[in-house]
This record gives sequence, structure tokens and C-alpha cells, in this order.
Amino acid sequence: MVRQRIVEVLIHKQQEALDCGNPPFAAVIECDGEILASAANDSRTTGNPLRHAEMLAIESVIKKNSPAFLLKSHLYASNEPCPMCIGACIWSGVHNVTYFLSQEHVAEIRGWGRFISAKVIASADDSGICVNGPIMNEEMLRMHKRFWSTDGNSKQKHSIHLSH
Ligand SMILES: [Zn+2]
Repeated sequence: MVRQRIVEVLIHKQQEALDCGNPPFAAVIECDGEILASAANDSRTTGNPLRHAEMLAIESVIKKNSPAFLLKSHLYASNEPCPMCIGACIWSGVHNVTYFLSQEHVAEIRGWGRFISAKVIASADDSGICVNGPIMNEEMLRMHKRFWSTDGNSKQKHSIHLSH
């Protein structure tokens, strides 16, 4: 059972992303019961397709704390981490990952965005990373429905449609 506080922070960060015009993806990193970092995707407003919430949360812990904290941290994500982000978890030493919505939940809403699942990547890897999910959350789903049905957002696919 994920602590309610983690869920609240994820939803808060998702809302923050939405308010800025970014897709509602969020991540939280917890270590010894304390939230070390929380982040929201800002790929649209920065024009940088690599700025996923998980990447930003990991970077934040490395900068503000130390990479060593990641070895005993748990990363929570509003959505199933993509291959880049689950790769970043593996390479930075995060051993536990829990996500809420599955990639199928979002792909169904926006009509694209399938990727190699986080669990398939984890099972092929010898780091021992443990991936848990999906966990359905109606509020998180509502935010995705809102974002992807607004202003042609679902037509902007990955970086190829970002403005240059
Ligand atoms: Zn990602």
C-alpha cells in the first residue's frame, strides 16, 4: 500500500504539469520514509523531450543529496516508466519502482505511446530492480483524459512534433 502522502504529492505535481501545459506525468523519490524529490514532466515547455519526471527526480537527488541515497530509495511514478526512465533507475541504482497508471491506460486515451514495458526491461536486467504496478487511480486517469483531449495535445507525438 502506497502512503497517502506519496499519492498526494504525485497528484499535486501532475496538476502542476497540467497548469503549465505539460503532460501530467509525475515522480516522487522516497528514502527512509522521507520524500527527497518530486518532479513533473516539463518536456513541452522546455522543448526537451528527455525531461521526464523520473529523470528530473533522480537528477534532483544526485544534485541536492548524493547519488548514494538512490541506492536505498524508492521511486514512485504516476505512470509506468518508459524505457529511458527505467534505464535511468537501473543505472543510478534505484532498486524499487512503483507506478500507478499503465502505459495501456494512457495509450488508450491518446492513441499512441506503446513501449517496451518496465517489467520486461527489469526482468532482462541483472541489477535486481523491482518494479511494481500498475495501480489504478481515477484522479490520475482524469488528468490524462483532460490533457490528451485538449488543444490537439494528442497529436504532438514525442519530440518530432515539438517546436524548434
Ligand atoms: Zn520516461
